[in-house]
Amino acid sequence: MEDGKPVWAPHPTDGFQLGMIVDIGADSLTIEPLRQRGKTFLAPMSQVFPAEEDVNKHVEDNCSLMYLNEATLLNNVRIRYSKDHIYTYVANILIAVNPYFDIAKLYAPETIKAYQGKSLGTLPPHVYAIADKAFRDMKVLKMSQSIIVSGESGAGKTENTKFVLRYLTTTYGTGQDIDERIVEANPLLEAFGNAKTVRNNNSSRFGKFNKVVGGFVSHYLLEKSRICMQSKEERNYHIFYRLCAGASEDIKKKLHLDSPDLFRYLNRGCTKYFANKESDRQIMQNRKSPEHVKSGALKDPLLDDKGDFERMCEAMKRIGLDDTEKLNLFRVVAGVLHLGNIDFEEAGSSSGGCVLQNQSGQTLEYCADLLGLDEDDLQVSLTTRVMLTTAGGAKGTVIKVPLKVEQANNARDALAKAMYSRLFDHVVKRVNQCFPFKTSNNFIGVLDIAGFEYFEHNSFEQFCINYCNEKLQQFFNERILKEDCIDLVEAKLVGILDILDEESRLPQPSDQHFAVAVHSKHSKHFRLTVPRKSKLAVHRNVRDDEGFIVRHFAGAVCYETRRFVEKNNDALHMSLEGLMCESKDNFVRELFENSAKDSKQKAGKLSFISVGNKFKTQLNLLLEKLRSTGSSFIRCVKPNLKMVRHHCSARGGFPSRAPFHELYSMYKRYMPDKLTRLDPRLFCKALFKALGLNANDYKFGLTRVFFRPGKKVQWCTLSVIK
Ligand code: ATP
Ligand code: MG
Repeated sequence: MEDGKPVWAPHPTDGFQLGMIVDIGADSLTIEPLRQRGKTFLAPMSQVFPAEEDVNKHVEDNCSLMYLNEATLLNNVRIRYSKDHIYTYVANILIAVNPYFDIAKLYAPETIKAYQGKSLGTLPPHVYAIADKAFRDMKVLKMSQSIIVSGESGAGKTENTKFVLRYLTTTYGTGQDIDERIVEANPLLEAFGNAKTVRNNNSSRFGKFNKVVGGFVSHYLLEKSRICMQSKEERNYHIFYRLCAGASEDIKKKLHLDSPDLFRYLNRGCTKYFANKESDRQIMQNRKSPEHVKSGALKDPLLDDKGDFERMCEAMKRIGLDDTEKLNLFRVVAGVLHLGNIDFEEAGSSSGGCVLQNQSGQTLEYCADLLGLDEDDLQVSLTTRVMLTTAGGAKGTVIKVPLKVEQANNARDALAKAMYSRLFDHVVKRVNQCFPFKTSNNFIGVLDIAGFEYFEHNSFEQFCINYCNEKLQQFFNERILKEDCIDLVEAKLVGILDILDEESRLPQPSDQHFAVAVHSKHSKHFRLTVPRKSKLAVHRNVRDDEGFIVRHFAGAVCYETRRFVEKNNDALHMSLEGLMCESKDNFVRELFENSAKDSKQKAGKLSFISVGNKFKTQLNLLLEKLRSTGSSFIRCVKPNLKMVRHHCSARGGFPSRAPFHELYSMYKRYMPDKLTRLDPRLFCKALFKALGLNANDYKFGLTRVFFRPGKKVQWCTLSVIK
């Protein structure tokens, strides 16, 4: 780099800004920003990158930039995005920026045709080119291939996955029904496994691995808490609203369905919805018919539940579900809704137990009717718990313990969750049955997971989702991450998942005790910290025995441990499991009998089945599978948080970074001997503390420190003055 050359230097909000070098110091450069001529600032050498001669020119593969660095890569992708070229390569990895609108002809049949058999780079970057390469690799190398689609929630993983499936089945399919089925399975799976969140109107709440040859779908951990409770402005699974909005009068009558507003499991998240956000208005403008906007309060104007219901039914038909099967699914969905409306009150007697509220009588009747249960049995099972006692020396006497109102509420919700998640398992199983089973073929697998996410409050669900994202990142870069975050989560005995299981097996497990145990076992792990020390005020409101902060590859997340113990337990208490296994409705009974067999829970005696460890086992099997295949990567990028087109904002993350050893050699001469004897990492920690830097502005990684945009400049100026 020399005087007068254009460079990219750190910028507080845009990530980088264009400037000229006006002076070169030993370790830092004086920069004059192009947009603010005459005003100069100092930036450390390691943070300034050479810019391309023509900063408005873009290239299809970042590797063909004259100077490939963080800033030129970002600039290239940004220019391309502004011209609706959402795909860009980094060698054979595909970057896909979410355009948030349908780009004309980008996925048209003629585009599909054009990419067939073409080597990567022959045509403009495209998800089709990656799909085609995977197919050709499979054939030439005679080896299975995986396409791993990653990115945060809302980045476009599911959409790109569908384009890959559509491409492969259209171009290389058998020309038979099975091709259509592989594609059509998606509306069905999404109806039961996707929901509106504040980050994505169609957020996947489960992970899936689609095998294109053979069609088989494996699924991973459906988010269960959503069935009974949703955060503000979020919704339950699409199917609930679609059924209420789209079912025929006849079916609605059979299932005693009405407006979604009347159901507890639906009316507490997304209440009245107004199109007041910029993103919402844009989407509304794109809609051809605003008709669906008018109806009921729980109607989300951004989602066309009625139309989606019809599309889902069409998909069901194509994959071969007949009317009876369809009604089976709907019956359980409605059963879950009615179950949720059952309310309890104190019994009034001295038993300390509870009874159903008067107005719940009808609901109980509907629920029992839909699920093939005896009304009285259902009532008793919801309000009492069966226990084996050793009283009077007689081992194994069964007694019924009355439940308090809160316990009965929990039992009701646990049953609803068990029912829905078993229904979801059934849907996936049913989808798989429609593909002829072939073992000998190599396959192309497309992995689409629930993306990295964090909210104001994060719980066990976010913990599992982010752990899964972390696992994939590990696959990306095994060397760097192996020893770190993954170990913190899954190490034997001391990993967070094992600590949680250990807690769950205690006679009186508690979420607080669990949080304390996590901190005490990992007080020195730099990927883990206590909320009290957090930079964000909102996290500091969480007590240290109520949560922990994990520094993930994609950012730090504060997890609140309240209800972790409960959410980690898949066991349904004995009387409810038993009740369902005796349903007169064959479909409902089988949902429970089959899964009882699966989980070796035949005797119904287990009081704890670990959700976290089951997930860990599944993920490790998946990773083993991925490692045995050739792989291609698609990295999806969310350009902005508003979910709108043509808008790109710099990440609020930590884009500037500096290796410890670099900072060490740069600043050691200004520091006392005592400090310079420390290793570079500790040295930097001590240095920042001494300088009184705001802990919000940087984070320590394994080998380097990360700064918020612009903060590094401020820090360097500070230290130079000193
Ligand atoms: P999550 O992790 O929450 O499941 P995701 O990465 O799967 O998120 P998608 O559901 O694929 O995200 O994308 C979110 C939304 O962005 C889509 O519903 C769609 O509106 C829009 N979108 C994504 N990719 C494209 C694309 N290539 N063209 C047009 N719109 C897109
Ligand atoms: Mg998705």
